[in-house]
Amino acid sequence: MIFDFQLRTPKQGMVDITNEVTEAIAESGVNEGICIIFCPHTTAAITINENADPDVKSDFLLGMDKTFPELSGFRHSEGNSDAHIKSSAVGASETVIVASGKPFLGTWQGIYFCEFDGPRTRKFYVKVMSD
Ligand code: ZN
Repeated sequence: MIFDFQLRTPKQGMVDITNEVTEAIAESGVNEGICIIFCPHTTAAITINENADPDVKSDFLLGMDKTFPELSGFRHSEGNSDAHIKSSAVGASETVIVASGKPFLGTWQGIYFCEFDGPRTRKFYVKVMSD
């Protein structure tokens, strides 16, 4: 069973999708297993990171901009090569353990949809599998 979600993203940002993933697991009825969260876009990504201090999100995005800046030598005509590189560096998916019908995450962890070339209407998919 695959659950699909839609979201409206900012220009750049990390959108907390932990509640949507938790909801998909609950709807699946799976108690013990694994869950894959997949982003079908080439300028966005999925990651797990801190959900306590919101400054972590802005520092993450600043760090990504400094690490993967837009360079004058890029040839891609769409002008968003930095976003394509960030997408691959962070990755299109995450795998999470499902335990007692919930995502098994650390105390300070949240699941994030990362936008690197918004604002756009985006999708992500959640696949839940039983042991
Ligand atoms: Zn492009």
